[in-house]
Amino acid sequence: MTNTNASSYQHLLRNNKTWVDSKTNNDPTYFNDLSKGQSPEFLYIGCSDSRLPINMMTNTDPGHIFLHRNIANMVHQNDANLESVLEYAIHSLHVKTIIVAGHHKCGGVAAALGPKTEGVIEDWIRPIRSVYADNKKELDEHACTADRLSELNVIAQIKSLTQTRPFLKALSTKNAPNLVGWVLQLETGLIKDIPLPLDEWKKDEILPQTFVNTP
Ligand SMILES: [Zn+2]
Repeated sequence: MTNTNASSYQHLLRNNKTWVDSKTNNDPTYFNDLSKGQSPEFLYIGCSDSRLPINMMTNTDPGHIFLHRNIANMVHQNDANLESVLEYAIHSLHVKTIIVAGHHKCGGVAAALGPKTEGVIEDWIRPIRSVYADNKKELDEHACTADRLSELNVIAQIKSLTQTRPFLKALSTKNAPNLVGWVLQLETGLIKDIPLPLDEWKKDEILPQTFVNTP
């Protein structure tokens, strides 16, 4: 480890102590209260990109957002990691809303627009190549193909989420959480809400007619 790395690493611990002090100076029982439990209103599924601190971007305190992150905010079927997060968030924490958030300048999306490679990431991002193929004309004509593909990928991943076992179980008991699609615009810091084709999904029987989305 270089001195620079050691310094950066020590910096993390010093910052942590400063943060703890600032919290407890304002509220001496802050961490005691926080440790008693959680009842987050939101499940957030986002990209692992280091530039997306969603609590900072939404100015929310610990306890508000249950988090799952992976490269390019993917919802693969039979992903035990994500499905266990979904099951716990929906059926134990009873979150009200699930947010799937992509972002502009996403490396995973950019990789899906590039040549195929050997390795695990290629398998992981393969569904994004399908999103591109299904929307090639619109995407090729867009001013920023990759950023628009990030938006369409959010819609595709929410569609996939509706077919996961935990969400299907919630639909069967008419207790499904609301669904929200976001794209985080790195170039401005602003969050863009992405309209979801819920009526189309109901028509195609991907969602039941009884599904109500009121985030
Ligand atoms: Zn990304």
